[in-house]
Amino acid sequence: MTQFADLGLSEILLRALNREGYETPTSIQAQSIPYLLQGRDLLGIAQTGTGKTAAFALPILERFAADRRRPTPFTARALVLAPTRELAAQIADSFRAYGQFMRPSVGVIVGGVSHRPQIEMLSRGLDVLVATPGRLLDHIASGRFKPATTEVLVLDEADHMLDLGFVVPIRQIVAKLSKNRQTLLFSATMPKEIAGLAQDMLNNPAQVSVTPVATTAERVDQHVFLVDGGAKRDVLLELMKDTDVSRAIVFTRTKRGADRVAQHLEAAGVGAEAIHGNKSQNQRIRALDSFRKGRTRVLVATDIAARGIDVDGVTHVVNFELPEVPEAYVHRIGRTARGGASGRAISLCDNGERPLLRQIEKLTRQSLPFTDRRSEDQRRDDAQPRRAQPSNGAGRNASHKHPRREGQHAEARRPGGERQNAQRPARPANGQKRRAHGGGGNRPQSRAPQA
Ligand code: AMP
Repeated sequence: MTQFADLGLSEILLRALNREGYETPTSIQAQSIPYLLQGRDLLGIAQTGTGKTAAFALPILERFAADRRRPTPFTARALVLAPTRELAAQIADSFRAYGQFMRPSVGVIVGGVSHRPQIEMLSRGLDVLVATPGRLLDHIASGRFKPATTEVLVLDEADHMLDLGFVVPIRQIVAKLSKNRQTLLFSATMPKEIAGLAQDMLNNPAQVSVTPVATTAERVDQHVFLVDGGAKRDVLLELMKDTDVSRAIVFTRTKRGADRVAQHLEAAGVGAEAIHGNKSQNQRIRALDSFRKGRTRVLVATDIAARGIDVDGVTHVVNFELPEVPEAYVHRIGRTARGGASGRAISLCDNGERPLLRQIEKLTRQSLPFTDRRSEDQRRDDAQPRRAQPSNGAGRNASHKHPRREGQHAEARRPGGERQNAQRPARPANGQKRRAHGGGGNRPQSRAPQA
């Protein structure tokens, strides 16, 4: 498997990635970065959640690492155009995170805020400017931003920009850039107008494409059990009583956790083996082989150990613990429902993991149906006002009978557009702050799990 170090990135970036907890490049990163480091233009078919931000940010930062220069006033060495202010802010944060040991100057220009601080920022010059097209054009018109020396242009979520009517402003901006620039265009879909834009803007581009994460997520029947932390093992055993669970992968966050869960299952008569980084290669091969042949019913794995697993016919994925990185959730559940088959993913989520659950729902743009199995104590604790916080929208559909079916797909079909929805705090009709996901406590339960 490709590692970040194999991609030719400098140590100063590898250190930041390590600090961010990134272990291996995602597919779009592994595919794009080598081309971009060669200076090629790129057409990337990828949507949010695939890791595309790092795919373009890392090679740009690498360029700065190789050629450090003070930016000239009123210019930016790299310009990233994004459709929304939220996305622009996130992209800038990513540049800062990946460039944490280089400290590039990164600025954001969006509409709806005062011009003055933006002009001051532009007057100092920037390494990276992330902007929405309309406001940037204002600054170009007034001579506060001079695009002619920009070395790299990135158009992110191009199809979303098309939806928002930004194609003409984009063309106006591009017309003012140097022809010698490197250009990258990312889009989740490729409508005719975007293909036309790509044709006009890109010079012999490399093309890379990755399956949208939502596709995997939509094929898998997902359910969450809200549980007390200490009850997870019992709930897991209960799930394993179902004979439909014929081949399951149970994910834990740590190696020790994997061992403990496997031992617990074995002790209860459920055939299980753990695989993780502390096992020898031979032990891993043997465990996998036995799982593949159906001799072991349950494989307990950590994310890293599971990366290379390719076993057909996995009926269930159980998240004994939710992953720290939401993208890992999509990788995990993708272990079932392979080759167009259907599959089930069940997540055990305790109160402490609720923020992780919200992140997953935001990334996959869905509200996961859940069953509340917590004790009265835990529900009460969760319902305390001090814990109350605005939901990111994830809880909006939670009281629907079939939230996933009713709520998710309509949104997921509009690429890019739902990012805003996903971030908008849900405001219930009565005007009160809504509690975090599932915080309704003893509200009627949503769709019954069919483990
Ligand atoms: P993006 O598609 O760029 O919005 O990224 C989606 C999420 O994946 C963000 O939370 C990133 O921090 C995270 N991410 C990106 N690349 C990696 C990686 N190689 N390993 C782990 N997480 C990543």
